[in-house]
Amino acid sequence: MSRVLVVNAGSSSVKYQLLDVHSAAVLASGLIEQIGEREGRARHTTGGADFSATRPIPDHAAAFALLAAAFADHGPDLETDPPVAVGHRVVHGGTRFQAATVIDDDVLATLHDLTPLAPLHNPANITGIRAAMASFPGVPHVAVFDTAFHRTLPPAAYTYAVPPDWRETYHVRRYGFHGTSHQYVSHRLAAILGRTDVAVVVLHLGNGCSACAVLDGASVETSMGLTPLEGLVMGTRSGDVDPAIPFHLARTAGLTIDELDAALNKASGLKALAGENDFRTVSARAAAGEPDAIAAIDVVVHRLVKYIGAYAAVMGRLDALAFTGGIGEHSAALRAAVLSRLTVFGVELDRAANDDARGETRVTTDGSGVAAYVIPTNEELQIAREAMALLRG
Ligand code: AMP
Repeated sequence: MSRVLVVNAGSSSVKYQLLDVHSAAVLASGLIEQIGEREGRARHTTGGADFSATRPIPDHAAAFALLAAAFADHGPDLETDPPVAVGHRVVHGGTRFQAATVIDDDVLATLHDLTPLAPLHNPANITGIRAAMASFPGVPHVAVFDTAFHRTLPPAAYTYAVPPDWRETYHVRRYGFHGTSHQYVSHRLAAILGRTDVAVVVLHLGNGCSACAVLDGASVETSMGLTPLEGLVMGTRSGDVDPAIPFHLARTAGLTIDELDAALNKASGLKALAGENDFRTVSARAAAGEPDAIAAIDVVVHRLVKYIGAYAAVMGRLDALAFTGGIGEHSAALRAAVLSRLTVFGVELDRAANDDARGETRVTTDGSGVAAYVIPTNEELQIAREAMALLRG
C-alpha cells in the first residue's frame, strides 16, 4: 500500500502520475489538455502501453471523469486497489500553509482566500481539487505547496522594503516558488555529496526559472517573490526589472495594469529578446550565429551568474551547484556558458561530462573549486512522498 496518485491541475490541463513511493516507480501517467476548447486531448500511459483520445472535454469535472475511466479501462485498477492518497500540486500556500496539508472544506476555503496572491494558478488548482475529490471520494486528498519549502527564508530575505500597510494588510512579501523541485534536487545533491551540512545553489531552469540557495537543507534565499515573476529571465517572464518601469510606461505609453501584467508575464523574457520562448530553438539559432539569439542568451547567463555570486555571498560559502528543469537538464551549452563564467569560485567545467550528461551527472572536474551537477527533478515523486509522510504521521 504505497501508491499515490499525483495530480497537477492547470487552467486548461491536468497532468497525473500514479507512483509507488517505495520503489519510485511510475505505474501510470497521463495528460489531459485543451480542457474547455472545442477538441480536448487525453493520453494515458501504463506499462509501456499508450492510450489516447480526442474529444470535447468541457471542464475539469469531465477531465477527471476521463481520468478515472482511463484507469478503469486500461489500468492499473484503482477501484479494487485505490491509492493511499491523491497528492495535489498547489502553487501558492501563502503564510497559511507551510507544509503538506490534508484537504477539507476549511482548507479549500482558505485556498480560495489566497487567490489574490496567485490569480493565475490557485483557481485552477482549486477547480482541479474539487473535481478530483468528486471522482475519488474515498481517498484522502493532500495539497503540496510550491511555496512551502521556502518557509525557512529568513525575514531579511523575504521582506520587501515597502510601506507597513502593504506588508501587514496585503501580505506583500517574498514567498518563492518551485519549492517542491528545489527540495527534491537539493536533497539528492546532499545525498550525492554524502553530507547534509552543505551550501548549494539549485537552478531550476524550465519555462519558469528560479534559483534557490539551500543551506544545511533549508531554503535561505530564492529568486521568485510575491509571484513567480521576480528573478531570473524566463521563457515569457521578464524576471527582475526596475519596479518603476510600469509607471514609466503607464505615463508615457498609456498602458493599463492588465496590459503591463500581460507584457511582463507573457511577452517578456526570451520571447521578447529572441522572438520565441522555446530555449531549444533559441539555443540552436544562437549556435548558428544569429545575433538576437546570442544576445538573449547572454542576458539569461548574465542574470544567472549574478544570482549565483550573490547566493554564495549570502550563504558565506558555496559547496555545489545543481542544474535542473528542461533547460538545466538538457542544455549543455547553457550549463557550459554559466559554469565557464564562474572563475571567481575556481569552477572548472568537465566538457566531455557536460556534453554527455544523462541522469544525475557531475559536470565539473575533480579539481573544480565548486562541484556542479545535473540532477533531473522529480516533483511528482516529492509530492507523493510528502503526501505519504503526512498520512503516516
Ligand atoms: P520545462 O518547463 O522544465 O519542461 O522546460 C521547458 C524548456 O526546456 C523549454 O524552453 C525547452 O525548449 C527547454 N528544453 C527542453 N529540452 C531541451 C534541449 N534538449 N536543449 C535545450 N533546451 C531544452
